Amino acid sequence: MKTHAVVLGARFGGLAITSWLRRLYPAEELDITVVDRWQDAVYRPGLVHAMDQPGLNVAKKVTMPLSSHWKKLRITPIQDIIVQIDPDQQKVYTATLPPISYDVLFMATGTEPGWDRIAGLSPRRGGVCEAYQARHTAWQRQSWSQGHFVFAAGPIIGSPQWEPKISVGCECPLLESAFLFERWLVKQQLRTKTQISVMTAGSSLAENSSPRVRQQLTRLMAQRNITVYTNVQFERVTDHDIFIKGERVPYDRSVWTAPMKGPSWLTNTKLDDGYGWIPTNNYMNHVRYPNIYAVGDGTSHPWPKMGHSAMVQSRVAVHHWLAKQKHRKLPAPFHPYLVWMLETGDSHSLFSITNMFYGGTTDILYHGLWPAWIKRAFQRSYVWSHGSLPIMP
Ligand SMILES: Cc1cc2nc3c(=O)[nH]c(=O)nc-3n(C[C@H](O)[C@H](O)[C@H](O)COP(=O)(O)OP(=O)(O)OC[C@H]3O[C@@H](n4cnc5c(N)ncnc54)[C@H](O)[C@@H]3O)c2cc1C
Repeated sequence: MKTHAVVLGARFGGLAITSWLRRLYPAEELDITVVDRWQDAVYRPGLVHAMDQPGLNVAKKVTMPLSSHWKKLRITPIQDIIVQIDPDQQKVYTATLPPISYDVLFMATGTEPGWDRIAGLSPRRGGVCEAYQARHTAWQRQSWSQGHFVFAAGPIIGSPQWEPKISVGCECPLLESAFLFERWLVKQQLRTKTQISVMTAGSSLAENSSPRVRQQLTRLMAQRNITVYTNVQFERVTDHDIFIKGERVPYDRSVWTAPMKGPSWLTNTKLDDGYGWIPTNNYMNHVRYPNIYAVGDGTSHPWPKMGHSAMVQSRVAVHHWLAKQKHRKLPAPFHPYLVWMLETGDSHSLFSITNMFYGGTTDILYHGLWPAWIKRAFQRSYVWSHGSLPIMP
């Protein structure tokens, strides 16, 4: 009898899961259904170019229409909102369709932006994390003339059990946006008329990297005359001011990465850790349900909330399921490490691979042209292959 795999979410994690499933299982052996609210996927790292490229191009360049991709892989797509999962009955409930039964479930549903966690904060304050936000931010940036521009990273509302503790989720887009904007201002001869600040709830810039990476980032920010606030406790945001503990910071425009939280629809279900995050072991297997896997930003770990991690976790999850099913040797489990190609403008990127924060000893760092070339080449092949790269990480 054929097995049915259901994949929830179709971005970094979901696309990698479907790709691995089809590489390892022919359509005659495995039916695959993928559920996401969007019809097309967006390669989110490209959205930071809202700060230095024309608004019209920003989202277009990184949008991946998926219908022919699903057809090619013989995968059934469902465009709907997932509202509930019953792990005992092995069913997924969506907003409008009959329940979907599964034999194995792969969850890659990410996180939820916690705009409501800071008084006065809303998507209106600016952002680059979704295509519609990036498009709007790019239009606004094009009419920028002078003033104080703030890039702000809200806290992560994680689980108190996480060790090591992290205070932000994904700061990378915010730092890249600030660097790219600064270079754009120089080209427009607006740099002297603009004050740029980066505010992060993180204990330092890139807290889950290494001391060397943090020092290099701090140096770069100082060289570019960007003011950095760390350990920020955001209290309130208005149209003209950001109130942080003990201070009022006037500003003219902002870009935010919203506080990151576990999705509300998952919170206090049988599947989450009580905070909306999905607990797994290092094989990405749910701690209570052996036929459920979770990968990516939504897992209950302080591991890097990055596309690269989601892709590696997907490989581990699918190979683990295959090994269990076919009684083969288990794959190597997932070990967290941070892989960054942080764009700093002028076709340069800061490349780092480090697991120091997670107790390891790897600490590679290089700032220059070639990491930017690799990042651009990766983006092109990712978008072209719909996340199903010839060689997957
Ligand atoms: C601007 C930006 C730049 C970034 N740059 C980098 C970078 O350079 N390098 C890097 O490694 N990482 C980067 N990241 C981080 C990376 O994009 C995320 O870590 C990655 O997207 C996580 O993938 P995911 O599959 O876990 O979740 P997501 O990307 O959040 O995908 C979740 C999917 O599930 C769907 N979904 C969720 N809930 C429901 C529901 N209830 N019903 C239906 N569908 C649902 C969503 O629609 C979405 O498509 C960046 C992120 C941003 C925002």
